[in-house]
Amino acid sequence: MLDALVVGAGGVGSAALYHLARRGLSVRGVDRFAPPHDWGSSHGDTRVIRLAYFEHPDYVPLLRRAYALWEELAQATRQELYVECGALQVGPPQGALLPGLDKAAAEHDLVLERFDATSFAARWPGFVLPEGAEARFEQRAGFLRVEDCIAAHLQLAQAAGAELVTDTVVSGWQRRGPDHVEVETSAGILAARRLIVTPGAWAPGLLAGLKVPLRVTRQALFWFEAEELQARAGGAPVYFYELGDGRFYYGFPAEGGAAKAARHYGGSEVADPLALDRELRPAEEADLRAFLSGHLRGVGGARLRHAVCMYTNTPDENFLVGRHPDAGEVVFAAGLSGHGFKFASALGEALAALATDEETPASVAFLSPTRFGY
Ligand SMILES: Cc1cc2nc3c(=O)[nH]c(=O)nc-3n(C[C@H](O)[C@H](O)[C@H](O)COP(=O)(O)OP(=O)(O)OC[C@H]3O[C@@H](n4cnc5c(N)ncnc54)[C@H](O)[C@@H]3O)c2cc1C
Repeated sequence: MLDALVVGAGGVGSAALYHLARRGLSVRGVDRFAPPHDWGSSHGDTRVIRLAYFEHPDYVPLLRRAYALWEELAQATRQELYVECGALQVGPPQGALLPGLDKAAAEHDLVLERFDATSFAARWPGFVLPEGAEARFEQRAGFLRVEDCIAAHLQLAQAAGAELVTDTVVSGWQRRGPDHVEVETSAGILAARRLIVTPGAWAPGLLAGLKVPLRVTRQALFWFEAEELQARAGGAPVYFYELGDGRFYYGFPAEGGAAKAARHYGGSEVADPLALDRELRPAEEADLRAFLSGHLRGVGGARLRHAVCMYTNTPDENFLVGRHPDAGEVVFAAGLSGHGFKFASALGEALAALATDEETPASVAFLSPTRFGY
């Protein structure tokens, strides 16, 4: 019998596979596609990573661990996985973004730069500071190359002895007894002592037993022609704007003349991830262009590319990580709610620790689904 099976070898699952394999365990990852792929939640070139975490200060220790592990992974595979270009964050002083940033920075002693209208205009010619808004800049932030990160974890996992089975669908799992979990797949039944469930947008099916309502949404990404002003080489940062009405937009420095931008949250509900509508919706492009034309300079020319991805949202938009209430042998990470990729390295390590009954290097207890009281 295998020591461990990982269902879903995407962002978090690929990291879990690596951390289990490097412990010398016999481990197999099973995925319905061939990661990295663009059918789930981990594609589109880049993901923002930032340390002063406005969503909740409790994420900061987990993020510190994630930064260290991404660096290790980059060194071990000799590639640039993390690009530090800083994060410019702009919003109303009484919104969710700036008070959250200030709180996380104060609790964890993080450095945030502030600007008045004059210093903002001088430092950020490509960006607009709306009337009444304020801005913060964090240098220790930037982006991860999402597909390369997954490929790197899988490469090291396989080098350490992990098996990866692709194009194989898991339809269910059952605990058969102590140290015995069975998984039903399109290629037959597999058995293992431990099961790690990291299915992204398919969590509502495979983790229904958690009884936490998960809402999968469709999120559109666009790449537009951009001028030098928005180029990474010219010092452009990743950016995150909260508008006065609570909408969030974000984007990345341009690379090769193309700048990626998107709206955070607000996507339409997806009933079946396999039937995701991947067509371009003109209203989404118009919404994004309206944001860009009001808040950025030098971006918003021709549309160069478009992609569609999925968020899997929990009721409070914080992740679900822990041990399954119905089976101590089963651990999971799901409901990453549109902000989880930056944590994938540390979540994979935490899942490997939970599965082997070790203490997690950084706490994930605050992400337990028991907070919902179901
Ligand atoms: C447009 C967009 C922008 C984002 N921006 C950011 C950002 O800037 N920063 C950030 O930190 N996060 C961001 N996120 C969130 C982050 O990318 C996701 O939370 C994260 O990548 C999800 O990882 P995952 O491992 O849960 O899912 P995935 O990487 O999708 O992996 C799940 C895997 O499970 C497999 N699978 C599912 N069901 C089965 C089954 N039944 N049998 C076999 N295999 C199965 C799938 O094929 C898939 O490979 C963004 C997400 C989107 C969609």
